[in-house]
Amino acid sequence: MNVPCLPIEAAAPKPRRSRQASVAWGSRVVTVGGDAPVRVQSMTNTDTVDAIGTAIQVKELAIAGSELVRITVNTPEAAQQVPYIREQLDRMGIDVPLIGDFHYNGHRLLTEVPACAEALSKYRINPGNVGKGDKRDRQFAQMVEAALKWNKPVRIGVNWGSLDQELLAQLMDENAGRAQPWDARQVMYEALVTSAIESARRAEELGMDGRQILLSCKVSGVQDLVSVYRELARRCDYPLHLGLTEAGMGTKGTVASSVALGLLLQEGIGDTIRVSLTPQPGEARTQEVVIASEILQALGLRSFVPSVTACPGCGRTTSTTFQELAKQIDDYLRRQMPLWRARYPGVEKMKVAVMGCIVNGPGESKHADIGISLPGTGEAPAAPVFIDGEKALTLRGEGIAVEFQRLVEEYVEKKYSVAD
Ligand code: SF4
Repeated sequence: MNVPCLPIEAAAPKPRRSRQASVAWGSRVVTVGGDAPVRVQSMTNTDTVDAIGTAIQVKELAIAGSELVRITVNTPEAAQQVPYIREQLDRMGIDVPLIGDFHYNGHRLLTEVPACAEALSKYRINPGNVGKGDKRDRQFAQMVEAALKWNKPVRIGVNWGSLDQELLAQLMDENAGRAQPWDARQVMYEALVTSAIESARRAEELGMDGRQILLSCKVSGVQDLVSVYRELARRCDYPLHLGLTEAGMGTKGTVASSVALGLLLQEGIGDTIRVSLTPQPGEARTQEVVIASEILQALGLRSFVPSVTACPGCGRTTSTTFQELAKQIDDYLRRQMPLWRARYPGVEKMKVAVMGCIVNGPGESKHADIGISLPGTGEAPAAPVFIDGEKALTLRGEGIAVEFQRLVEEYVEKKYSVAD
């Protein structure tokens, strides 16, 4: 086959197509949608009644990079603690906006605990859990009225685990009357999308500004999520919150979330993301923030920390030196970031390479801002260091790791310091 030789187009995420909303607390305004960066969101797993424990976890999530944090508001006691959680955070200098996650009784909590409604920056409304029958519209309206009263945006958050069963039954009946009925999965997709969009339109009829409404339709299957969000994005331009619900634990949850969110973000779909990872015993809640940030960074949508390019190692790296150095440098860069972020603007885009041998080591190191090519098995015990694409020096001996870290530090200071 004769294929004409044309310049190869560089892959990049498509531009997003949503309108812009904002979520604010005090002077902190987090823009969402439109040309704002895709935002990282997370959710606490503390009992909200434990105001101090919740405030501490919110702080940890915010420091890890979560730009919006959602907390459960499920009982009057929890609602009463929300203003104290906010107060604790303000005292600690943490201005991350808090989102209240409501199900079943949100209409009552937002009405009966006004201080909670005021302290939150956004309300999540699940149309499948606002009530049944004639109560549904009334209770939904009560939540929207609270949002209007306190001038807060809302997220209409549909979830297939709590899908509006009356709507689903109605769509099933309609489907039965079709000459060629859709399969059950397609009806379920339609119910998810319809529930989100009709609820948003209802909120607008009740007086909400369409720029204060965000939508989500979470499911737990990768292909289902892609199908649903493609259709949601086709039918509306509300900003979309993405997340694979109940993604699971560890590697499975990480991979499934990365694939699902990656596919959609590459298509320009998604304005905020959350990785719904089940923490492994002893694992920090902040892991979901780390993964969400890594997804955005891997797609080239945002930069949070300098990236370390490391080869996987092979039969040419028979010692663990190279793995240890790669880990040491990665940990070091992450540790430095809270300080560096303010002191060295742009450092988050830096690329560091730690490579295992001469095969790809010098080449990959030249592509990085600073890179080291360690000696593989049988090579002379010398590690050339490349800075801005040029070989700068060669490290030898026991102190290679310490020396290389020092070189990285010097490089950062020289390249990213802001002139006085
Ligand atoms: S750079 Fe060398 S050590 Fe690393 S994977 Fe390639 S051949 Fe193996």
